[in-house]
Amino acid sequence: MVLTHSLGYPRIGARRELKFALEAYWRGDSPREALLEAGAGLRARHWRDQAGLTLVPVGEFSFYDQVLDMSFTLGNLPARVRGFHGDTLDNYFRVARGRSAEAHAACCGGVAAGEMTKWFDTNYHYIVPEFDADTSFALDATRLLAQLREAQAQGVAAKPVIIGPVTYLALGKAKDGTDKLALLPKLLPVYAQLLAALGQAGAEWVQIDEPLLVTEQDDAWREAFKTAYAALDTGSVKLLLATYFGRLLENLPLVAALPVQGVHLDAINARDEVEALVAACPEGRVISLGVVNGRNIWKTDLAATLSWLEPVAERLGNRLWLAPSCSLLHVPVDLASEQKLDPEVKSWLAFAVQKLDEVALLAKALNEGREAVAPALAANAGAIAARRSSRRVHNPAVKALVAAITPALGHRHSPFAVRAETQAALLNLPLYPTTTIGSFPQTREIRVARGAFKAGTIDDAAYEAAMRREIEHAVRAQEELGLDVLVHGEAERNDMVEYFGEQLEGYVFSRNGWVQSYGSRCVKPPILFGDISRPAPMTVAWIKYAASLTDKPMKGMLTGPVTILNWSFVRDDQPRSVSCQQLALAIRAEVLDLEAAGVRIIQIDEAALREGLPLRRAEWRAYLDWAVGAFRVTANGVADETQIHTHMCYSEFNDIIEAIADMDADVITIETSRSDMELLDVFEDFNYPNQIGPGVYDIHSPNIPGEAQIIALMKKAAERIPPQRLWVNPDCGLKTRQWQEVTPALASLVAAAHRLRAEAGQ
Ligand code: GLN
Ligand code: ZN
Repeated sequence: MVLTHSLGYPRIGARRELKFALEAYWRGDSPREALLEAGAGLRARHWRDQAGLTLVPVGEFSFYDQVLDMSFTLGNLPARVRGFHGDTLDNYFRVARGRSAEAHAACCGGVAAGEMTKWFDTNYHYIVPEFDADTSFALDATRLLAQLREAQAQGVAAKPVIIGPVTYLALGKAKDGTDKLALLPKLLPVYAQLLAALGQAGAEWVQIDEPLLVTEQDDAWREAFKTAYAALDTGSVKLLLATYFGRLLENLPLVAALPVQGVHLDAINARDEVEALVAACPEGRVISLGVVNGRNIWKTDLAATLSWLEPVAERLGNRLWLAPSCSLLHVPVDLASEQKLDPEVKSWLAFAVQKLDEVALLAKALNEGREAVAPALAANAGAIAARRSSRRVHNPAVKALVAAITPALGHRHSPFAVRAETQAALLNLPLYPTTTIGSFPQTREIRVARGAFKAGTIDDAAYEAAMRREIEHAVRAQEELGLDVLVHGEAERNDMVEYFGEQLEGYVFSRNGWVQSYGSRCVKPPILFGDISRPAPMTVAWIKYAASLTDKPMKGMLTGPVTILNWSFVRDDQPRSVSCQQLALAIRAEVLDLEAAGVRIIQIDEAALREGLPLRRAEWRAYLDWAVGAFRVTANGVADETQIHTHMCYSEFNDIIEAIADMDADVITIETSRSDMELLDVFEDFNYPNQIGPGVYDIHSPNIPGEAQIIALMKKAAERIPPQRLWVNPDCGLKTRQWQEVTPALASLVAAAHRLRAEAGQ
């Protein structure tokens, strides 16, 4: 008998119930009991959704983040929140969200939130555990045991889920530079106690997640796995060691040698390792295979999966478990809530609920033969075949254009130095030119107008008039402030990816396809299902209108192909690089249309370029090659006279500076205000040749920077980059800020630039 299980379930709820319950509690609009009840209700419902599985994950439900839960379970609270006498859950939220100093001056005086970072290569963000040399651990299994009891009371075959000790240490940050591995001897006894407590509470199996095993590790960390699992081999529970998001490669023998009772392998990413893992593991060990993709929204090709799985099942018998490849946290809950989705595309999709059905079907086919599920297999085969041959998916004209991409398409006519002179003569900008990153505050009026337009309560003309008013307002404001290069303000865009996706062929949008990004924040990634083309210009009319209102240069504003790709659910029937090339050609056409319309400066945002980096460094080169290649195709078809800007929302460029330089944008604007310009060192060391706008206004904070502060930052920048190549701008777009913050902040920015020019004798 092949068993089935799952590694984790989305907790936000099909209608984002958890988000609304959390936010109501945080606002003080509803009591703690209501939040606890909402949590219990979601868990009960989600366990029912998973009732078809042999083993159901328990304990991965979280009010904010599973890594922060683990920190609390292990008693690893940041020093600043220890000794808090209130409710544990409130203390937990203090770490998760922080407490502002102003609002809490009378009580706690404010608490800094824990740092947040991306969970491996997903778009989920976790709260980084904090360590120092004195970190100690003490078990608090209350939450986990309560959820386990709750599940047992509901008759759920519960398998508690925890994060393994080595991954937990690796995810954290030692602020004092302590060797994190030195904490392992203190950590392991607490893990052993936890496993004992779970065993006593009736758990037979515990899933212990060690996704670190799909990444490159040095000997010390590899050794730590051996030490850890030897220490946890106490017999109190059976351990299912879960790896996911990639292949094990050189870590495969290590995994096979660890004393655990089961291993989960991501058989979507590491299908070619199944054989080797089975061969290397001791007789009797459970092998769990993740055969349904937990990271995308496509139906599994069940027949194809069975074809390779049947011999494996033959060999493993009841040692084989089936599951999704990873926790379903990364996909929306239920396709059934999509009433408006294009029915053809919908028939190709599977969200969490549907993915579990697939797991159950595969197990049944293995256990009872394909005949036992013949109608379901036939329906699946029909959907797979329809998608494969659909004219909606395959557009021969697009494929021909991609095939015709040549390196020449990605090359500017002249090198930067030549272009820079041509552009300087045309644009006639002062030293330290000032600009912004694109968006201006998304006011209530803007959202109301957009909402009314989407709902059909105002017509095209009324909507256009409303947006034109907003654009005019933004342009006038920038003129009054005295900025040098203006933007239209992006009033018409709800989201920098969705806006373009909605106008491209090859995209569909879900209504409820929410995926947790962090805490109560969710994103609804657009679904890239087919060959991408651009039926008509997407931004030209707005930019032309904005440009007509001023004599100052107006920047065209686009999202780049890599960012569109990385923030979408994308096709699994062709390499990501090919989808990216298609996007590149579509945005390139927009760039050329803007240029033809007289737009002299065009910005192409690549906020998410870095996010796409593979987990293994060995694969970075290949990714950067195609990603940068796609950007170049997008950007570099313009004449020397046209100035290309790009923008990136982060600041770690150390390990990718070569690729950044390779993009060959005339100007790059980046996020640097918090780092005191140290981040520019890498640009200096690399002799980065083109122009740079290092952010001098932290747009994530309501604080308004003063002129002196901006001057100080720019002077630091000028120590590293020649002033002739510097721009003055905020860190990022201003859409989340209010006009009353933005106006004085930009006034400081312009005043700072004036002062710097005067000091330079201009
Ligand atoms: N142009 C976009 C804006 O200003 C850039 C946002 C981003 O990079 N995240 O909003
Ligand atoms: Zn940004």
